[in-house]
Amino acid sequence: MTAVMWFRRDLRIEDNPALLTASQTGPVVPLVILDPGLLGARARPRDAAFLTAVAALDAALGGRLVVRSGDPAVVVPEICAEVRAAAVHVSVETTPYGARRDRRVASLLSDRGIAWRATGSPYAVGPGLVRTRGGTPFAVFTPFARAWREHGAPGPAPAPARLDVVDGLGNDPLPAPGPLPGSTPVTEDAARQAWAHFLGDDLASYARLRDRPDQGGTSRLSTALKLGTIHPRTLLHDLAENGLTGSPGGERFITELAWREFYADVLWHNPRSAWHDLRPALAAMPYADPTNDSLAAERFSAWQQGRTGFPFVDAGMRQLLTEGWMHNRVRMVAASFLVKDLHIWWPHGARHFLDHLTDGDVASNSHGWQWVAGTGTDAAPYFRIFNPVAQGLKFDPEGAYVRRYVPELAHLPGASAHEPGTAANGYAGGYPPPIVDHAAERADALARYAAARRPAGETAS
Ligand SMILES: Cc1cc2nc3c(=O)[nH]c(=O)nc-3n(C[C@H](O)[C@H](O)[C@H](O)COP(=O)(O)OP(=O)(O)OC[C@H]3O[C@@H](n4cnc5c(N)ncnc54)[C@H](O)[C@@H]3O)c2cc1C
Repeated sequence: MTAVMWFRRDLRIEDNPALLTASQTGPVVPLVILDPGLLGARARPRDAAFLTAVAALDAALGGRLVVRSGDPAVVVPEICAEVRAAAVHVSVETTPYGARRDRRVASLLSDRGIAWRATGSPYAVGPGLVRTRGGTPFAVFTPFARAWREHGAPGPAPAPARLDVVDGLGNDPLPAPGPLPGSTPVTEDAARQAWAHFLGDDLASYARLRDRPDQGGTSRLSTALKLGTIHPRTLLHDLAENGLTGSPGGERFITELAWREFYADVLWHNPRSAWHDLRPALAAMPYADPTNDSLAAERFSAWQQGRTGFPFVDAGMRQLLTEGWMHNRVRMVAASFLVKDLHIWWPHGARHFLDHLTDGDVASNSHGWQWVAGTGTDAAPYFRIFNPVAQGLKFDPEGAYVRRYVPELAHLPGASAHEPGTAANGYAGGYPPPIVDHAAERADALARYAAARRPAGETAS
């Protein structure tokens, strides 16, 4: 019987349990849907990455990938009727949009007597599967990570021994991906090469250097993991096979993968946390609103453009605009600056990140933001406020990262690039002075925090 294999966040041939299962049932129609609900009207880096990965998947399938545009609730039943499919195979989708869409499509298929077969997910352990002994979801990362490791992941699935792809079906045009910013690995081949390079080279120093944006010693696999051109199960397996699981770099890397799994789990249990505070504790926080306050709008725009006058923040924001990616340490500092120095609610920043990141992922992005903003599960305490200059001096001690992305500071040697205000010619390159006074904004943030935490009716003494 013919089966449809609907690829979504699993744009790969290797280690793809859903594709393997479909291939074992008979002829397969490999399908990608260009869903207007997911692809933006504007050309976003994330969409360019998706289209690049789809084009590579098509090439790997000998040009026989079926690409259709439209609402999946229309497209999937249509193609099933066209090829008389008995089943549709997918890997499970757990984001709020994806889960809702899949429930709808599966129900329409069931009405037509077509089976919905979900095998695997974009995670080593499917969201919702790791629970406390009491059966409740984990609210804190460390015990989750422990239980997640104890749960373990299955080994990689072999590539299909035989893939009988149905030929000659009509296609909607696949839009040209548009330029992909930066050098992030996107396709299955590129992801595997980047991973091999990272394993052999950067993993040894990863635990020491992963916080150093000037060194570039991280895997850069976030976009490939988002698109599913590589699976975390493959990564965990390769670490074990190479005897690297217990090494400092291996342990640290597994912990980072666990953060990705944790945030997916949190989102699975709390779909509303995609765009709202997970914890209501700071619901009364008075924020500046860039949609109706001109000063907040001006500051928000300076932050978006990387013109805040804080070099480490600006370097990160410009890396985002030019490469569609930003180093994790700088994401934390740039996010903290928006929330705690400019007092703007985190979803405004999260939307900007999602619009510009090639790895833009609602679970990791929104919960990364909420960790910084103090509203999420396991969040950093609100009152721990990053000093953007001190962070720069600590994690970019030679100023190399700042000079790479902020040419107006290229004339300042070493660490002085972080403090243009202390050099006689600091602003000679046209770099803007700070838009706020960090010490004053820090005090303001703490006052707002105290006000938000105060029981209703009580005033400050
Ligand atoms: C405000 C903010 C927003 C973020 N938005 C996203 C996002 O949209 N998409 C995204 O994939 N990551 C996001 N992250 C997490 C992290 O910054 C990126 O995953 C990481 O920078 C990707 O680079 P890498 O692949 O070289 O990471 P590596 O250091 O090589 O880590 C390996 C993998 O572990 C996972 N990982 C690492 N750190 C984290 C983390 N803190 N949280 C969750 N997963 C992690 C990623 O899948 C990453 O590819 C965000 C973090 C913050 C603070």
